[in-house]
Amino acid sequence: MTAAIISGKEISAQIRSQMKDEVHQILLAGLGEKHFCPPGLAVIQVGQDPASSIYVNNKKKACDDVGIMSFGYELPADASQEDLIDLIDTLNKDTRVHGILCQLPLPSHMDEFAVVCAIDPKKDVDGFHPVNKGLLSIGRECLVSCTPLGCVALLKNQGISISGKHCVIIGRSNIVGKPLSQLMLAENATVTIAHSRTGNLPEICRQADILIAAIGKAGFVTKDFIKPGAIVIDVGINRCEDGKVRGDVDFLSVSEIAGAITPVPGGVGPMTITMLLQNTLHAYKAITGRQ
Ligand code: NDP
Repeated sequence: MTAAIISGKEISAQIRSQMKDEVHQILLAGLGEKHFCPPGLAVIQVGQDPASSIYVNNKKKACDDVGIMSFGYELPADASQEDLIDLIDTLNKDTRVHGILCQLPLPSHMDEFAVVCAIDPKKDVDGFHPVNKGLLSIGRECLVSCTPLGCVALLKNQGISISGKHCVIIGRSNIVGKPLSQLMLAENATVTIAHSRTGNLPEICRQADILIAAIGKAGFVTKDFIKPGAIVIDVGINRCEDGKVRGDVDFLSVSEIAGAITPVPGGVGPMTITMLLQNTLHAYKAITGRQ
C-alpha cells in the first residue's frame, strides 16, 4: 500500500485564499469609515536568534499575503522583562492591534509564563494564555494554539472523519500534545496521549486509527508503530546534521503501510502559520464585532 499524501501546502493555500477574500470584504465594508482599522497582528522578537527571525519574517509575509496588517517590534537580547511587558501593555491597548505574538523562546533571563500572562487573552493569537488554555479544556470558545488547530484542519479538509476514531498522540507538551488531545476529544475521537514514560509505545500506537507524532526526534515513528491504513500526522520539525529538515516519522517506511500521511516539510508546518492568520481574524471579529 502507498499512503495518500496530505498536503499541508495545498490545504493551507486554499484556506489562505478564502481568508484573503474575507479580509477583502472587511476592507471594502470599512472603506470611508472614520475609525476603521483593518485586522492587525503585532509580532515581537527579543534578540536575533536566526531561526526565530525566519519564523517572524514568514509570519509577517503570510499576513501581507492575506491583507492582514503586521507590526514588527524588535527588542535587544538584553532587554529587561519589564521592557517587554511594557511593550505588551501598550499593544494590549492599541486599537490597531488585534493579535499579539511574542516569538519564543525568550532569552533565559525572562520568565515566559509571566510574559504570556501579560498578553490580553482576547489578543492571544498563539493560544498560550492560561485563560485560553482553561477555556479550551472546558470546551468554550477561545483562541487555540496554532499547531494543534492546524492538525485538525488538515484532517477535516482532507475529508477524514474523526468522530469515533481512536487517536493516539505521542507528546504531551503544552503547545502541541495537550491542546491537540482536547481538540480531538471535542471532535469525539477516543484519545490516548503517549509520552517518554509510556510503556509498549509501538503496541499502543498500532491501535491508532489516527496517529499524531509531536516528539522532536527525527524518524522516531517507524512502520512497527502503524496499523495498516492508519492516518499519520507528523508534527515534528527536526533539523538534521545534513542540513535537511525531517519529521518525527520515518516517511518512507511508514508510507508503505499507512492510509494517509503528512510530509515534512509541507505538512503541518504551513498549516501552523495559516491558523495564526485565522486566529488573528477571529480575534479581530471578536474585538470589533465585525463579521
Ligand atoms: P516538547 O519537547 O515540548 O515535547 C516533546 C514530547 O515528546 C514530550 O511530551 C515528550 O515526553 C515526548 N517524547 C520525547 N521522547 C519520547 C519518546 N522516546 N517516546 C515517547 N514520547 C517521547 O516538543 P513540542 O511539543 O514543542 O514539539 C514536538 C515537535 O513538534 C518538535 O519536533 C517541534 O519542532 C515540532 N513542532 C512543530 C510545529 C509546526 O509548526 N509543525 C510547531 C511546534 C512544534 P515527556 O513529556 O515525557 O518528556
